[in-house]
Amino acid sequence: METISRTKIVDVLQSEAFGTTVNVKGWVRTRRGSKQVNFIALNDGSTINNVQIVVDVDKFGEEYLKPITTGACINVNGLLVQSQGQGQNAEIQATEIEIYGTADPATYPLQKKGHSVEFLREIAHLRPRTNAFSAVFRIRHHMAIAIHKFFHERGFFYFHTPIITGSDCEGAGQMFQVTTLNPNNPARTEDGDIDYAQDFFGKETSLTVSGQLEGELAAMALGAIYTFGPTFRAENSNTPRHLAEFWMIEPEVAFNEITENMQLAEDFIKYCLQWALDNCMDDIQFLNGARKHLYKNEDMDDLVERLRFVLDNEFIRLTYTAGIEILEKAVADGHKFEFPVYWGADLASEHERYLVENHFKCPVILTDYPKEIKSFYMKQNDDGKTVRAMDVLFPKIGEIIGGSQREEDFDKLQRRADEMGVPVKDIWWYLDTRRFGTAPHSGFGLGFERLLLFVTGMANIRDVIPFPRTPNNAEF
Ligand code: ATP
Ligand code: MN
Repeated sequence: METISRTKIVDVLQSEAFGTTVNVKGWVRTRRGSKQVNFIALNDGSTINNVQIVVDVDKFGEEYLKPITTGACINVNGLLVQSQGQGQNAEIQATEIEIYGTADPATYPLQKKGHSVEFLREIAHLRPRTNAFSAVFRIRHHMAIAIHKFFHERGFFYFHTPIITGSDCEGAGQMFQVTTLNPNNPARTEDGDIDYAQDFFGKETSLTVSGQLEGELAAMALGAIYTFGPTFRAENSNTPRHLAEFWMIEPEVAFNEITENMQLAEDFIKYCLQWALDNCMDDIQFLNGARKHLYKNEDMDDLVERLRFVLDNEFIRLTYTAGIEILEKAVADGHKFEFPVYWGADLASEHERYLVENHFKCPVILTDYPKEIKSFYMKQNDDGKTVRAMDVLFPKIGEIIGGSQREEDFDKLQRRADEMGVPVKDIWWYLDTRRFGTAPHSGFGLGFERLLLFVTGMANIRDVIPFPRTPNNAEF
C-alpha cells in the first residue's frame, strides 16, 4: 500500500482539494451497498461526522471486503471527490484498503444504534466509539480548554493542590483512606489501636475532597489562582448528580468580597457556555436528538435554547432567608416536597430546583446561609446567624457551584473550627494565613461534571465522565 500521510476526517470533510489522493484511517460505522458498489461510513473521532468511502466491489473482491463490518478499523487511500449526496462536501473513492483490525459481528457489542445508556455503562471501555459518547468526550475536552483560557486570560494562575491529604476537616466521614498498612494485620499501638505512625506518611491520610484550603494558601501569595483536579468523596449517594471521583475547578481570589465572587462565578459559567456554542455546535446538535433515545424520554428541552437562555439572562441573587420564604409560601399553596422546609434546613435538590425551575425560571445565586449547615471557614455575618456562603443553582442540575467569602479573622476562624469539632492541630498551616498578612478573600468550587451535564444535556453524571466511580462500581 502506498504511504500517504494521514488526513483527519474533520479536515477531509472541509477539503476542496478534489482530485488529489488522500489517506484516512478510522473505525467503520456501517458498510452498505450493492453487488457493484459499497459505501463505508468511516469515523476517526476527530468529528461527529463520518466520511463516506465509495468502494468498487469488483476492484477489491467481495471476499476481501467481507470483514469490513461495523467496528472494524481500516486504512484507506483514495481519491477525494465532490460528494453527490446532500449535506457533505467531500467523499473518497477508495484505491487501496488495508484492514487493521476486524470486529466480529457475533461478539462486537455495538452493532446497532439505540443502545440504552445503562447498557453502554456496562461497556464503558467501548462506549467512546458511539457517536453520543464521542460527542460527550469531545465537549468535555473543549470545556477543559475553556476553563483554562478563562482563568489564564484574567491573570489567574493554575495551582496544583495535593491529592493525598492529611487533614479531614472538610469531609469528615466521607473520605477514602490512603494507606500501605496491611489490612489483615495492621501495625497496632500498645492500646490496640491502628498505629498510623507506622503507615507510609507516618499519619492517617486520605484522598482529597477539595483543594480549597491549599488554594487559599496560594491566593494569599499569587493573588488569584485556580485549581482543576480530581476530588474524591465516599458519600454513599446513588444519585444522577454524584460521583465518588469527580473533577472540580476551584478559583480563590485575594481581596474579593462575596459580590465579586458571585460575578466571577456568573462570568465563568457564561464564558464556558459561550465557548460550547462557538466550538462544539456539531456535537451539541447531535446530542440534542440522541439523548432522547438514550434516556427514552422524548420530552427533553432544546439544548441550544437552554444554553442561550442562561447566556441571555442575569442570574438572580437572593438570600437563603428569602429563598426559604418562597419555599414556605409554595408549601402553604399546596406544593408537596419530600423534605421539610424551615429556616435552618439544608436545601435538598427538590428545593433548589423549585426555586430555579418553578419560581424564577432562571439560574439563582443563593447567599447568606445559616452557619450551622455550612463549613467552619465561611465568613461570619454580623447577625451572628448566617455566613457569607453562595451556591449557584441551575435548572436540571440543582447546585452547580458552592462557594463563599472566607473568614479572614484569626480568632473568629479558630473559634468556629473549635465549635464545629474541626481538629485545629491538623490545620495549623491553614490558620497561619490568618496569622500572617491576612486579607479578605473568596472562592468557589464548580463540579466539572455538573457543568458537563448542563452543556451536553445528558441526564446522568455517569454519562459525562469516561470511567465513572460510584458505589459498587470501579470497573475499567
Ligand atoms: P451536593 O449538595 O450537591 O452534594 P456539596 O454541597 O456537597 O454538593 P460542595 O462541597 O459545595 O458540594 O462542592 C462544590 C461543587 O462540587 C458542587 O457545587 C458540585 O458542583 C460539585 N460536587 C459536589 N459533590 C459532588 C459529587 N459527589 N459528584 C460530582 N460533583 C460534585
Ligand atoms: Mn455545596
